[in-house]
Amino acid sequence: GSPEGQKMQEIRRSLPAFKERETLLRAISENQVVVVSGETGCGKTTQLPQYILEAEIEAARGATCNIICTQPRRISAMAVSERVAAERGESLGESVGYKVRLEGMKGRDTRLLFCTTGILLRRLLVDRNLGGVTHVIVDEIHERGMNEDFLLIVLKDLLPRRPELRLILMSATLNAELFSSYFGRAPMIHIPGFTYPVRSHFLENILEITRYRLTPYNQIDNYGQDKMWKMQKQTDRKRKTQIASAVEESLEAADFGQYNPRTRDSLSCWNPDSIGFNLIEHVLCHICKNERPGAVLVFMTGWDDINALKDQLQAHPLLGDPSRVLLLACHGSMASAEQKLIFDKPEDGIRKIVLATNMAETSITINDVVFVVDCGKAKETSYDALNNTPCLLPSWISKASARQRRGRAGRVQPGECYHLYPRCVFEAFADYQLPELLRTPLQSLCLQIKSLQLGSISDFLSKALQPPEPLSVQNAVEFLKTIGALDENENLTVLGQHLSMLPVEPKLGKMIILGAVFNCLDPIMTVVAGLSVRDPFLMPFDKKDLAESAKAQFSARDFSDHLALVRAYDGWRNAERQQSGYEYCWKNFLSAQTLKAMDSLRKQFLHLLKEIGLVDSFQSCNAWSNDEHLVRAIICGGLFPGICSVVNKERSISLKTMEDGGVLLYSNSVNAQELQIPYPWLVFNEKVKVNAVFLRDSTAVSDSVLLLFGGSIFGRALDGYLMMLGGYLEFFMS
Ligand code: ADP
Ligand code: MG
Repeated sequence: GSPEGQKMQEIRRSLPAFKERETLLRAISENQVVVVSGETGCGKTTQLPQYILEAEIEAARGATCNIICTQPRRISAMAVSERVAAERGESLGESVGYKVRLEGMKGRDTRLLFCTTGILLRRLLVDRNLGGVTHVIVDEIHERGMNEDFLLIVLKDLLPRRPELRLILMSATLNAELFSSYFGRAPMIHIPGFTYPVRSHFLENILEITRYRLTPYNQIDNYGQDKMWKMQKQTDRKRKTQIASAVEESLEAADFGQYNPRTRDSLSCWNPDSIGFNLIEHVLCHICKNERPGAVLVFMTGWDDINALKDQLQAHPLLGDPSRVLLLACHGSMASAEQKLIFDKPEDGIRKIVLATNMAETSITINDVVFVVDCGKAKETSYDALNNTPCLLPSWISKASARQRRGRAGRVQPGECYHLYPRCVFEAFADYQLPELLRTPLQSLCLQIKSLQLGSISDFLSKALQPPEPLSVQNAVEFLKTIGALDENENLTVLGQHLSMLPVEPKLGKMIILGAVFNCLDPIMTVVAGLSVRDPFLMPFDKKDLAESAKAQFSARDFSDHLALVRAYDGWRNAERQQSGYEYCWKNFLSAQTLKAMDSLRKQFLHLLKEIGLVDSFQSCNAWSNDEHLVRAIICGGLFPGICSVVNKERSISLKTMEDGGVLLYSNSVNAQELQIPYPWLVFNEKVKVNAVFLRDSTAVSDSVLLLFGGSIFGRALDGYLMMLGGYLEFFMS
């Protein structure tokens, strides 16, 4: 091959996994289930599936083998398949392919497919036995994502029916016993790895080394968190999560007596509830000015704080100077061009700084990292089963995660890790993170259990590695009954069947189906795409006021964030036609990337609705109604029972939900600017609980709309209508 190809083969042979190649292959051929663990970067994801493919080709089964390797995130499925194809000297879509929601590259001869866990679950929907599949590799199982835990229950059921099917579970950490015993003591293989030592600096040391001074003022420098912080300070400790209170207790008990007064003073100002951007900036400056060459990996919590931090750093004279610093972001929704830059080595004299979410903890390995900055938090969904509120907020990571983050600095030489919290806080972390199945609403999952015909929901979920609380299961089943997706006996209705085919949450799926039935799909698909991709309205923290008024322009005073979203999207589509999409986005604080993702999701909805039979293939978008009242009613039909009551007081509004009492609006909601809302109700998609409960996007509705479109009566009527429609279609098709 080419010199480049030869170099890649050399790299492949140098990976720790290569030494175990024969052991791994033998174990896989002799056992139905094998659990493989090994330090991140040792070659599990890129090598093991390839070894299997090579062995199958050698054994003359190259034409019949069919290997599926699941990834928890779409971005890793894409990045890994590209890498593996390159290592095999092919282009994507030959023997190696990928498939994620909305995108894929797979050819007739594809034998090794990297896909998201969701895609494999969808495939199980149409083919319960995974006919033709020879190997299933479930990667990153240590993350304990909901889909992965779910897939394991299904596969455990399937294995006896498919004795020749091979299952390989891959984990980055040493908790292999848990998975092995779940599969009847399946053999475990550990790939020993080598990493250089990494020195840990906790906050107290950082303050000593860098002589940085924390003050109460510069602790509140975060985008929009100040208000919440103040509120959090006032609330009692009882309502905090267990970890958050453990952190506070250990802070109070800590003795920083050995440190100099300035450091002690700083530590007393440190706010555990926020991520100090100025501190991060200071640490990055310190590294750039004083440390040897090497890339820096900064662990943040999500797309929004990465962008906000990037904005702040770009304005800095040193960190924002492209001739000295290459500043990159790494998160689930970045473009693939940006993704390539992350792996590249920058020119000499330029320091690469990557701001990443916890996906850089285990699923993506950046080889030249020497310095890690760890904010100690990750965005985590949590779920309060008692009042049925999903919460998404930055929470403290586990000890296992913190070690994993630190380890990222020791891949090529001894490294340094800066933890932006005191050592005593680390000691208060939990050992491992709680599995997602135990901290998220289970509605989609329960619907999937039913559509896969896996029997009773609670029986099925009781077979999980760590089963969820009965109350969460009961809540989810009740919800599905309320929207008409399940009948009294927990059987899937026609509506439920349709909902399980749409790749969105059940309530959003219901909104789409209502849109189809009432012939106003165009605006409704936009609303659902926006709610299920992410908000396209950007809120850069330093231009918050400008961004808020840009959004308000789309409101037309109709008291609906969702209608504002529809107008913004329609405007973008027109601008795109005139080749001025980017200008439009820039002027209006919109994310072009998000709008494009919404666009492809809309196309997919349409395709699926045609398959279901709810949209004629000859129908065009222009024929759809855009009636504002109808759209408002359908939004209500989908978002019910997410409602809160509106009480107009003199020059202010008070909002209440049944479960929470008083609630507040996010400041960027168009309704947050209003002094009066001339409707009795708001419907909303999501509440975020940060001690106070905040509503994200909302639409105002009248009594009659709520009565007619909300509630269970309508759910059942819709199901009846769909059943009848199905009957007619069948009659005329036959
Ligand atoms: P594991 O799954 O055990 O964490 P991987 O198979 O992902 O390990 O990675 C093995 C090696 O391949 C690592 O050194 C990693 O940096 C490298 N690698 C993976 N993907 C890419 C890529 N897209 N470009 C360059 N190197 C990569
Ligand atoms: Mg991996």
